[in-house]
Amino acid sequence: MALKLIREFSHVSERCHNLTRKREGSGLMIYQRTLASATRCSGTGLHSGKEVSLTLRPACANTGIIFTRTDLSEPVTISVGMKAISASSFATSLENRGVSVTTVEHLLATISALGIDNVIIEVDAPEVPIMDGSAAPFVALIENAGVVEQSQPRNYVVIRKPIKVTENGRWIEIRPSRNTRISYTVDFEHPMISKQFYETCFPGRAFQKEISPARTFGFLSDVAELRSKGYALGGSLENAVVMDDFGVLNEEGLRFPDEFVRHKILDLLGDLCLLGHPLIGHVIAHKSGHAMNHELLREVISSPECWEVTELSEIRTREMRQAAMPFRERQRRASV
Ligand SMILES: [Zn+2]
Repeated sequence: MALKLIREFSHVSERCHNLTRKREGSGLMIYQRTLASATRCSGTGLHSGKEVSLTLRPACANTGIIFTRTDLSEPVTISVGMKAISASSFATSLENRGVSVTTVEHLLATISALGIDNVIIEVDAPEVPIMDGSAAPFVALIENAGVVEQSQPRNYVVIRKPIKVTENGRWIEIRPSRNTRISYTVDFEHPMISKQFYETCFPGRAFQKEISPARTFGFLSDVAELRSKGYALGGSLENAVVMDDFGVLNEEGLRFPDEFVRHKILDLLGDLCLLGHPLIGHVIAHKSGHAMNHELLREVISSPECWEVTELSEIRTREMRQAAMPFRERQRRASV
């Protein structure tokens, strides 16, 4: 009898151990993280066309991600979160007390994908520099600064029930999942793009290799209108993929044949950062954009029965309990 119990316990213990390893293998982190040191770069503002300096500084646990506009007589801080969203056209803009910062999504995607919870972002202009139109320069910047683990546990937004937003054949939804996954479809009536699909998981090296190098893109036919409205004044072939009716105008061509859908994943990952905590869920997007991404986030906030904020250790404990539970009991609870 004793031997049988030991065998059963070993079996459960082995399963629990495997679950723990799987979680660690998935790249989900238990503790909050920040930068090991301050780091700085400068570049052109996509919309203003002016030079912008960007400084990232380490921050204490539970600080979150905070922008500081240093070009004003009194520096103004803008906390990254749903309440700060001020505009969704062409880029994601955040605002506090009438002071805004725009084109934040590529930097936020990088911060999120590299597992950073707490950071102060100083900019001396109303926008983040566009760099080369991708997130690769921000990856290099953060990897150069280094990342350190902090003592406080990290909270996750864990999706428990599906949430979906639909409009005119376009849609985006989040479903429960054991990790963070994005599946994206774009469909443009253009010979270089047409229909493209890409799926990837975060966090992990996939972001650095597959997503961060993908550049923002636009159409030559839209440039005049954008500029007449004061947008894209700093846009050039140095920081965007530009297409005419037939193909890509950039001499070097594309970085990936499906660079467009990869960039849409980058934008979406930056928008998901506005939830305030990293997400555990599967996001499936079909022809979405910033405005629809933000609409999904609003739907999440207004559906508290579909998600919870919890620590990874709590999720693990529940999984271990469930793994140790007899099969019939698990089935009974799943059907309640
Ligand atoms: Zn973008």
